[in-house]
Amino acid sequence: MANVKLSNISKSYGDTKVIENLDLEVSDNEFLVLVGPSGCGKSTLLRMIAGLEGVTDGELSIGDRVVNNLEPKDRNIAMVFQNYALYPHMNVYKNISFGLRAQKMPKDDIDKKVREGAEILELTELLERKPAELSGGQRQRVSMGRAIVRDPDVFLFDEPLSNLDAKLRSSMRIEIKKLHETVKKTIIYVTHDQVEAMTLADRIVILKDGEIQQIGTPMEVYKKPANKFVASFIGSPEMNFMEYPDFSLGIRPEDIYISGTEPTMKRPQKLDGDVILVETLGAESLIRVNSGNHDLTVKVNGITKVKTGDNISLVFDKEEMHKF
Ligand code: ADP
Repeated sequence: MANVKLSNISKSYGDTKVIENLDLEVSDNEFLVLVGPSGCGKSTLLRMIAGLEGVTDGELSIGDRVVNNLEPKDRNIAMVFQNYALYPHMNVYKNISFGLRAQKMPKDDIDKKVREGAEILELTELLERKPAELSGGQRQRVSMGRAIVRDPDVFLFDEPLSNLDAKLRSSMRIEIKKLHETVKKTIIYVTHDQVEAMTLADRIVILKDGEIQQIGTPMEVYKKPANKFVASFIGSPEMNFMEYPDFSLGIRPEDIYISGTEPTMKRPQKLDGDVILVETLGAESLIRVNSGNHDLTVKVNGITKVKTGDNISLVFDKEEMHKF
């Protein structure tokens, strides 16, 4: 059992307060993703859980132990970093087994663990290679292998896919999700990428300036964003906002339709506008429309016949609008 509990946690560097009075509980076996823009405090939180940073105030527990004063090695956590942190002169086998050898585990036990881990991560054929002979994705799998063999209570991932190209990122996302299903352990995963957050998380924590903006399942934060920050951070292309003096109305690009193509709506709202840009992405097209007071993005399926300069009629359901 390894839930992780942060109670009233604060962190300062000198006079700079980075996190203040933060509460968060991660359940056993949960895949929790911390997401937010650069500088919001995600890595600091993760590093405090790992024990790489001290906690200024508050209580941090893993399982039933308060770990504030425990060394990282005594917390039974394993961390996977963005830069892999592999030893270049050691082959994959030696890299994966490094921590176990340092613990002086018997050779046969080490061998069994390394081969099991390599099997899960499809590294069996690569055990003799050095890191320089591996692709970025393979290197990251080795660093995950090193984490798995230690059989930790909690896996901590710090932006593990940021160094990979887009195609590899999406295949590694699938591997990490499968890994979670196989090892059934608590994972806390930091990223600035909302797509990673949406696709991986059981629950997402959205952070801004060291404060939690919302905690929820991917669908909760997408469908019912707690505030405008969450609404604009989650979802691509970004939610459209129509600003009024006292409030802001938001509508997602996929909730606006070209008149005549819409599904049945409870409270349809019509809108006319001039097309200022069409982006064709293949499976979908993004139409940028100026409707007088507002510029809106409309997402439609497939390839659209609409062209720049066209005047088009749009419709959306007021039920789908978000008010902030
Ligand atoms: P993120 O991971 O979300 O990009 P960080 O947790 O790295 O953000 O940083 C949060 C804030 O704490 C930033 O404003 C950063 O400048 C500050 N910070 C991080 N580490 C230190 C440090 N060692 N000394 C002073 N400020 C720091």
